[in-house]
Amino acid sequence: MQTLNGKTALVTAAANGIGRASAEALAARGARVIATDIDGTGVDALAAGNDGITGQRLDVLDAGAVAALVQDHPQFDILVNCAGWVHDGTILDCDDDAWDRSFALNAKAMYRLTKAVLPGMLDKGQGSIVNIASIVSSEKGAPRRFAYGASKAAIIGMTKAIAADFVQKGIRCNAICPGTVQSPSLEDRLRATGDFDAALAAFKARQPMGRLGTPEEIAEMVCYLASDMAGFTTGQAFAVDGGWSI
Ligand code: NAD
Repeated sequence: MQTLNGKTALVTAAANGIGRASAEALAARGARVIATDIDGTGVDALAAGNDGITGQRLDVLDAGAVAALVQDHPQFDILVNCAGWVHDGTILDCDDDAWDRSFALNAKAMYRLTKAVLPGMLDKGQGSIVNIASIVSSEKGAPRRFAYGASKAAIIGMTKAIAADFVQKGIRCNAICPGTVQSPSLEDRLRATGDFDAALAAFKARQPMGRLGTPEEIAEMVCYLASDMAGFTTGQAFAVDGGWSI
């Protein structure tokens, strides 16, 4: 197992799902993790059970709070940008509010947080940024994921741009493209269809492996990309999708 001893990581959306599993996995490998979420109680509960994790409330849409957090912790080695939101609908269901919220939470917040953290990484001459995109992006279309897919595609473009700009400064930036993964928000989306079991069966059926992924399976890729084991890897979008994109 790769070690992350001595490294400090910032994880967004760490109270649940992929963010939470990533914070736990990074800490298990020795990183000191600042686990943030708009749900401050959730990250405090996570931190209470784990010496390597400090919980802090952070709404990634709040530019002032992002600036204050990075001022308090100016030197991260690892940034995991995980916060995201799914708008359910086609282009005909999308209005300006849905489009703006999709891009604000899925893309703009990631740009803003990365811009805040990057100077500290440049001072250290090293850093790994891991952006949680989705296989539903520029990689693949899916029904009723218009604004979501467009905004997740923006993450892949942003990832490659950052990687290209800072490749000679010790900074690596990669994206992960999960398929469908068990999480509280996925359960909400399944319930919102009105027929949880049928929706779950349909989501499983589109995964060639016949099952959903687990947050822990995504967190393994986060840890690899965060670690020096991935020292020759930057600017890439990695599918961890149960074969959905084959
Ligand atoms: P989730 O959606 O269940 O939980 C998301 C967390 O984000 C919650 O703890 C919530 O409190 C937090 N959050 C919401 N708004 C926030 C804000 N403004 N600031 C800070 N935190 C906020 O978790 P998930 O499903 O594992 O999704 C995590 C990421 O993975 C998202 O970017 C999502 O798009 C992406 N993703 C998920 C799946 C999936 O099937 N679950 C698939 C592909 C990509």
